[in-house]
Formats: sequence, structure tokens, C-alpha cells
Amino acid sequence: MSFASSVKDDLARVHCTRICCRLAEFAAFFRMCGSIHITGGNKIFLTLTTEHAASARKMFTLARELFALNTEIIIHRSPRLRKNRIYEVKIPAQEGINTVFARLGLMNANEIWNENFPGDFSGQIIAKECCCAAYLRGAFLGAGSISDPEAAYHLEFFTPDKNHAELLQKLLLGLHLNGKITERKGGYVVYLKQAEQICELLAHIGSHRALLEIENTRVTKEMRNKITREVNCETANVDKTVKASMEQIEAIKLIDKYLGLSGLSPSLAEAAQLRLENPASSLAELAALAGIGRSGMNHRLRRLSELAEQLQIDGEQRLKN
Ligand SMILES: [Zn+2]
Repeated sequence: MSFASSVKDDLARVHCTRICCRLAEFAAFFRMCGSIHITGGNKIFLTLTTEHAASARKMFTLARELFALNTEIIIHRSPRLRKNRIYEVKIPAQEGINTVFARLGLMNANEIWNENFPGDFSGQIIAKECCCAAYLRGAFLGAGSISDPEAAYHLEFFTPDKNHAELLQKLLLGLHLNGKITERKGGYVVYLKQAEQICELLAHIGSHRALLEIENTRVTKEMRNKITREVNCETANVDKTVKASMEQIEAIKLIDKYLGLSGLSPSLAEAAQLRLENPASSLAELAALAGIGRSGMNHRLRRLSELAEQLQIDGEQRLKN
């Protein structure tokens, strides 16, 4: 199961106690995935369609609780992917159906369609602060998605309607979340990109399991990055030690060839011998073997390098003369 559908499963299980919040959640889902159908006989019915089974079940239950009307759930095969299913929640034409439209703000009390429809019909539904989180949850169940936190931090709502995108952005702002809007083929995407903001939203709308998963991933990612940085740093140090040691060994071999190690002072001869015997040791390790300080060993090895350089220059001079 994808991360997004497990988040939706979580959200579909959240049950609001307040009627106002249940209506807000249903209205948001309706605005994302709902349609109004008018038949030849001027009968009106309403459908909600989704590929997410738990969301369909939730909307079916909400519709029955809120409106106490005959409600159906119909399962179709997806025309795109035949193994996928599409769930349709339908409130068929019946007496009292206009109360649904009135409560969603689509009709006024005299059963006249709202002029602003489909403009800002959500206005009265989210007038109360408590309903904002419920509205965002309904919108996410209807047309939200979230990336697996292992891959990226990204949560979005897709809506074909610009007004609705702006409304969602305003609701996010009410929770101090900075949602951005971008145009995508056929509509608008309202999205959050920061892990902290995504967690905050999930906490508000009720997906605590997803929130924990993102937090865990974030900690693991941070640890992984820290370890990688440390390993890289160590590798760089080892590389530096190996390179210096190889240069020193080359110098010592040159001295041995032209001068012989026995021609060196006892302290330089000892340093040369220790370096030849311990090519992988660091400066500090060689110093410890000789029982002297780091700077002392550094000084001796530098003297050896300088001596080798001098011998090389002399050799070249001799060749020229
Ligand atoms: Zn409410």
C-alpha cells in the first residue's frame, strides 16, 4: 500500500463529534469529487466518486448521518486500470434532496441555486474555526496526496478551481502553514514542502501514524547524513596520511640509495626506519613509537624530505656538469 493511501486510511477513521465539522468534511470532499446531475424529468441527484474505499465508506456514513436520506454506494471498474475500482456514493433523486444542497450552501432557504455557485460556496461551512481542520481533511481525502517521506517531503491538494485553491491556502494559513499554489495541467496544486509543516498539518487533521513515520524518517535521514559526513571526513584524512607517507617513503628510499641510511644522524635514521616499517601509520602513531612528540616526529620527517630534495638537486647538477 502506498504511503498516501495509508495516510488516507488513517484520516478516514477520524470521527468528528460536532455536526458542523462533519458537514465541513463532507462539503470539502464534495467540492473535490462531487457532481450534481439533473435528469430529463428535472430530477436532481448527487454523486461523489473516489478510488479510495475507506473514503467512500466514510462519505456514505457521513451522508446518512447528516441528511438522513436514502444513500447508495456503487462499485465500478476503473476504465483506465481495470483492476482498480471506483466507488460512487450516490444520493438519488428523492424528496428532501434540496436540503442537502441548502446545507452545502448551494441553494438558499427558498431552494434557489446560489448565484456564486460554484464560486465560494464553502464560505458559511468554514465560518467556524473548529471546522477548518475537518474541511482540510475532507479535501485531502477527496484530492490530496503525499509523497513517501523516504523519497521527498511533499503534500498537495489538487483542484481544478482557482478560487478553491485560494480557499485551501487561506485555511492552511489559518493554521500558520505556508501553502504555495502552482498551476498544473487542468487545475491548481496547493502544496507544502517542509517536513515540519507537513507534520503540523497531519497533526491537525488527525493522521498521527503518518506524522510519526515522517518524524522517524527525518531522524533516520539526519543520522544517515551525519554518518556520511563523518565517514567522508575520515576518508579524506586517511587519504592525506597515505599520500604523505608515500612521499616520505620515496624520499627515504632516495636517501638510502645515494647516502645510505647509516649516513644519517641516529634520530633521522630512526625516523626513516619507523616510516619504512609502518607505511600506514599516522604522524601521531610514529611519534608514539619513537617516544617523542608529534611535532618532533614531524620535524624529523620534514628534514628527511628536505635532504632527499637536496640530494635530487645535487644529482641533477652533477648530471648537467
Ligand atoms: Zn465545526
